[in-house]
Amino acid sequence: MTTRVIINIAELTTNDAALGDGSPAGRLFNAAMVLDEQQVLWVGANADAPDADERIDAQDCAVIPGFVDSHTHLVFAGERSDEFEARMAGEPYDGGGIARTVAATRAASSEDLRRTTQQRVDALRAGGVTTIEIKSGYELTVEGEKRLVGLAKEWSDDVTFLGAHVVPAEFSHDRDAYVELVGGAMLASCAPKCRWADVFCDAGAFSVDEARSILLRARNAGLGLRVHGNQLGDTGGVALAVELGASSVDHCSHVNDGDLEALAASSTVATLLPGAEFSTKSPYPSARRLLDAGVTVALATDCNPGTSYITNMGVVIALAVREMGMSVDEAIWAATLGGALALQRDDIGHLSPGARAHLVILDAPRSAHVAYRVGSTLVRQVLRD
Ligand SMILES: [Zn+2]
Repeated sequence: MTTRVIINIAELTTNDAALGDGSPAGRLFNAAMVLDEQQVLWVGANADAPDADERIDAQDCAVIPGFVDSHTHLVFAGERSDEFEARMAGEPYDGGGIARTVAATRAASSEDLRRTTQQRVDALRAGGVTTIEIKSGYELTVEGEKRLVGLAKEWSDDVTFLGAHVVPAEFSHDRDAYVELVGGAMLASCAPKCRWADVFCDAGAFSVDEARSILLRARNAGLGLRVHGNQLGDTGGVALAVELGASSVDHCSHVNDGDLEALAASSTVATLLPGAEFSTKSPYPSARRLLDAGVTVALATDCNPGTSYITNMGVVIALAVREMGMSVDEAIWAATLGGALALQRDDIGHLSPGARAHLVILDAPRSAHVAYRVGSTLVRQVLRD
């Protein structure tokens, strides 16, 4: 197997507190690292860099772990820029537009879905994302959801069944029948391709009791659990996620003090999605309040056509720093190791020896430039295995 040494790294973020300066970022300066095609073999001082088959000169740029985007809805057809324009003009978001994407996705060929998803994956990768979770949820039929998880699997080992995204129009007069379908035939047809199940538990989507019944059946089918919770109000999704030991509860835009305490005492990660607040013109939650309480926080793009059509993790990090009270280091940690924890992955999100060789050589001397120069794609090279 070919080995490579990366020399002249001005600032190396390992996210391993046992390495480097002792901070959670595990930072080394004037560093080098050695990889093979699969994993990190060594990190240390530039002066001590061993030989390898190939040499990459980082030319005094910074190196960080590849971003882990732990929450996306990448497989969809159509677009909803008119809704974005309406919200910017003052219309509130109520979750209602999802049905438009469902109609467009049902009508799309698999070839079209494959082509447009690839474009979004390429955009995320170009910005330094090396792992992408992908949810279903835009067909809401047994065959359709099966098609979407099959497509998602072409790009991701972290595929999430989201049949409980909204109740589709044809079931609007019989919600119970749809909940039964999701937890029964739809789950059974999707589970073989999925690692996770998720429910949009919020006003206008699924109630806590409906979400619990679906998630319990998903857990029995061997899937890990995720929850879209407390985006639109204080609606019980966070408490349900903690109750069920979900890996992650995502959005957390409205978290009461009881939820905060429960989250902090749990292993459930709070995944914040500031692209959704940006795109729905909603108030940003305070990441500072969660962090100060001891909650583990991840950041993700929530890339979807309705409420966060964002494919640049750097923008998400900048919003979290500017609007949500995170330090730059906390935000980069949340978009790398935080995302890995939300996906219960110990092989990514950090650059300790033994980690997957997923990293980004930035076109900047310090990782802080990711937020400081918002909107620029400061990626010199992405190494992914
Ligand atoms: Zn989402």
